Amino acid sequence: MSLDGTYDPDNIFAKIVRGEAPSAKVYEDADTLAFMDVFPQASGHVLVIHKRSTARNLLEVDDADLAAVMRTTRKVARAVRQALKPDAIAIMQFNGAASGQTVYHLHVHVIPRTEGVPLGRHASGGMADPKVLAEQAAAIAAAIR
Ligand code: AMP
Repeated sequence: MSLDGTYDPDNIFAKIVRGEAPSAKVYEDADTLAFMDVFPQASGHVLVIHKRSTARNLLEVDDADLAAVMRTTRKVARAVRQALKPDAIAIMQFNGAASGQTVYHLHVHVIPRTEGVPLGRHASGGMADPKVLAEQAAAIAAAIR
């Protein structure tokens, strides 16, 4: 699976949207969902997705769905800043396997960064403690405006 392919309705993010797989939810509105990344590249790593779009990547998404995802990305980034007080925030997004994409449901990474701390491995580091993810999700959610 890379830039070309067919949307898989059973991908892990689609399952999270349908409530068939667990997630530590940060924010949800009619169009979008934000939840903690279980293999965080830094503490407080959040993912933002569209709930209905079947775009696998940025190249496929329509304007309205992209706008909804980016509005939520900014909302979450502001809340991450307030709740976790990082030195910086990386917004990342991958298209195709060679870029590092592993889940083919369009998503944006919101990654808090700390001066002098290298970015962790992408989608392959250790699994985070669910209790910590739930605490971080609650703290970020409380800072959503
Ligand atoms: P990408 O490699 O850009 O497609 O990003 C997929 C992201 O999803 C990676 O950062 C993974 O750590 C993350 N991930 C995979 N499975 C789950 C899951 N069940 N819940 C939350 N995040 C996940």
